Amino acid sequence: MENNKLGEQDFLVASISQLSISDSSSPPVVARFRSDSLQFDPDSNDLVQFDIGNCQLFKLGPYQSLCISEASETDKEKSYSRGITIQFRNEEESRAFHCAFEQWKKEVVVQAGSSLPNGIMSSSSTTSKFDEKIEASSAKMYFHYYGQLLHQQNMLQDYVRTGTYYAAVLENRVDFTDRVVVDVGAGSGILSLFAAQAGARHVYAVEASEMADYACKLIAGNPSLGERITVIKGKVEEVELPEKADILISEPMGTLLVNERMLESYIIARERFLVSNGKMFPTIGRIHMAPFSDEYLYVEIANKALFWQQQNYYGVNLTPLHGTAFQGYFSQPVVDAFDPRFLVAPAISHVIDFTSAKEEDLYEIDVPLRFVSSVGTRVHGLACWFDVLFNGSTVQRWLTTAPGAPTTHWYQLRCVLSQPIYVMPGQEITGQLRMVAHKAQSYTLHLTLSAKMWGPGADQGGILQTSSGRLDLKEPYYRMSQLQAYPVSQEQQPQQLLQAQDIQIQSHDEEGSDLLQQ
Ligand code: SAH
Repeated sequence: MENNKLGEQDFLVASISQLSISDSSSPPVVARFRSDSLQFDPDSNDLVQFDIGNCQLFKLGPYQSLCISEASETDKEKSYSRGITIQFRNEEESRAFHCAFEQWKKEVVVQAGSSLPNGIMSSSSTTSKFDEKIEASSAKMYFHYYGQLLHQQNMLQDYVRTGTYYAAVLENRVDFTDRVVVDVGAGSGILSLFAAQAGARHVYAVEASEMADYACKLIAGNPSLGERITVIKGKVEEVELPEKADILISEPMGTLLVNERMLESYIIARERFLVSNGKMFPTIGRIHMAPFSDEYLYVEIANKALFWQQQNYYGVNLTPLHGTAFQGYFSQPVVDAFDPRFLVAPAISHVIDFTSAKEEDLYEIDVPLRFVSSVGTRVHGLACWFDVLFNGSTVQRWLTTAPGAPTTHWYQLRCVLSQPIYVMPGQEITGQLRMVAHKAQSYTLHLTLSAKMWGPGADQGGILQTSSGRLDLKEPYYRMSQLQAYPVSQEQQPQQLLQAQDIQIQSHDEEGSDLLQQ
């Protein structure tokens, strides 16, 4: 993140007075944050100026604060501490001013490379675990994305997601009432506000992106809840908190649960902030996997590379790049909502217990696969989705992204293999899904599926058909059509999808088998 992007900021306060003098009848005064100084009445001759780096702000009451500056050691002239009391016009403006002060202070401190004396919002100066694992360019883009309100709105408007969090928190008030809560990656601050609604004693909302400033604003605008929430701008790997939490709340799930590598931050937050045996909302996560058959999807992907089979594209032969393009399309996991009837075997799952998992457990996740096909078909790859459990003391609630369940903004994920495998009903499908974390906050997926060749000789050992693929979870193919993004109803959607599929199978099958023979 860049420093000093705040530019300039004005506040109107009712009055200020030197500590020794008190004059409440004076007109309002502009308090201006600028670069590394806080100026009162900046445009007048009575300018009172503080160096943000070495001044501190104390709340004396709901409307009154005290601003004190330390004597600067570098001053040539001998100077003493000085202070002013600030009278605000209302509580909300007081809170906004304090919030702004902390943001400015942090910027100044970061620039100066020193640490905060009272440690309210300090970032450690050494390289954090986050910086060691993640490429700076990836982190910059990531936090830029979440710093925009439109992306937070997109998550807030996923009512399955937000509604499940709301229910899980409010149905389990006992887990929040009078407790200290840390919101890990608070975004807009919505989960902190839910925790405050459920009676939390205090919530620390930790958010690394610029969204922290908006969270401050949203929280200040909800004063009855906001008075129990402190927004802390910084990474959970780096910020310091004044007390331990009884419960963590977070929404760290990406596609396939693990994308974005934020689960690791959630675990680091547990190690840094949670009391032993503290609660975590969500508590566990599960990745579910099942083989699928979807001829239409397979042909759609294979056909994308046909462009590169042209031998005379403005007089240029494109075929040297066809193989690369073909592999490229199959390296993209497909994100969309699909009909669960495309699944050819019951799903298996891999469980991650957030309360006990080690951060390193997520660097490489190996899942052995074994399924029994319920039908005879061509298997095109592996379909995946996830769910998370809120293990509340009163109610246990699941948030699921399964096919057939109400669609979420995560949809589902399918890894399509460039070579389908043929199975008979009752036949075993084996293989492996290996997920290897990379520095761009995502995973490389290595998928292998095998089945014994059926036909003569199958019962005497048989020949194994094996198909493998390497996919990058960071580069998904978002394949949401109008039909799938806005299903008319849960009953209607599968039927419509199947009709579309049937038509396409007939018209594309020949091309599909051509491609297979190559
Ligand atoms: N809790 C919000 C936002 C969830 S999105 C909600 O439920 O609506 C995840 C948020 O976590 C993003 O805003 C992102 O910027 C933040 N985040 C991700 N990794 C982080 C980290 N290591 N430290 C602090 N914030 C992080």
